[in-house]
Amino acid sequence: MNIRADVTCFHCGHVSAELVGPKGAPVHPGMLRPDTIANLVLPRAGQPFRCLRCG
Ligand SMILES: [Zn+2]
Repeated sequence: MNIRADVTCFHCGHVSAELVGPKGAPVHPGMLRPDTIANLVLPRAGQPFRCLRCG
């Protein structure tokens, strides 16, 4: 079963992307929905996601 989640900034509340993947799987950039990441800078291994609004 797949789950879907918004990637929401804890600082400003902006939703920068959406991810979809199997329940219980580790989160990784490949789970981001391509149509939601047009302006998102994908993080490298070990780096956090950055908010599109406040960085
Ligand atoms: Zn933000």
